[in-house]
Amino acid sequence: MIIDMHIHEKTFSFDSFMQLEDIVEKGKSRGLDGICITDHESNGLAGYAKKVSQELAYPIFVGAEILTYECDVLIFGIDELPARQMHGPELSAYVQQRGGVIISAHPYRKNNRGMEDTILTDIHLGGIEGFNGSTPLELNLKACEGALYRDLPVLGGSDAHRLDRVGRYATKFPGQITCMAELVEAIKAGTAKPVYYERGVYREFQYEALVDAI
Ligand SMILES: [Zn+2]
Repeated sequence: MIIDMHIHEKTFSFDSFMQLEDIVEKGKSRGLDGICITDHESNGLAGYAKKVSQELAYPIFVGAEILTYECDVLIFGIDELPARQMHGPELSAYVQQRGGVIISAHPYRKNNRGMEDTILTDIHLGGIEGFNGSTPLELNLKACEGALYRDLPVLGGSDAHRLDRVGRYATKFPGQITCMAELVEAIKAGTAKPVYYERGVYREFQYEALVDAI
């Protein structure tokens, strides 16, 4: 099952130009089996997304992209987002205690919102967004190198704010995922693989070889 793990919808992400129904249509046309909405500091779309998901018979998972004092992270499986800004380790513990999963978003993207070399420390992470659609390849590969060093799963997401970006990168899971709890378990299982869209099909990133080449 191929899921774009990182998409912004305009109701709660004010820098996005897309509404949910159009994202679903684009996702279907690209061959995505599902999408994640990860709005900035918000999972407010969850209720509406559940309704649209049922009406359109298409899996939509609502997580969030949270800005800690240091960087952006993606979180999944947490209904109640923290009410205040936190440092990375505190947010990581918050998410863990509630059974969710935390992913370092675009760790080396040059926007001062990446975790950078903190991914190499012992901070608890459920995975690393090794392929982010708004980050140059060499910086994505640096993130993959960190994930290999930590033996963490590498995920892919478009970080789309515009329709033409939806599904550029995504994540392939071996089984079917029908709810957020299953998505969290699938990430924790560590079997996810990053994929990229090319001429109508998704291909797996052979990032181990690419990291070796840099
Ligand atoms: Zn984002």
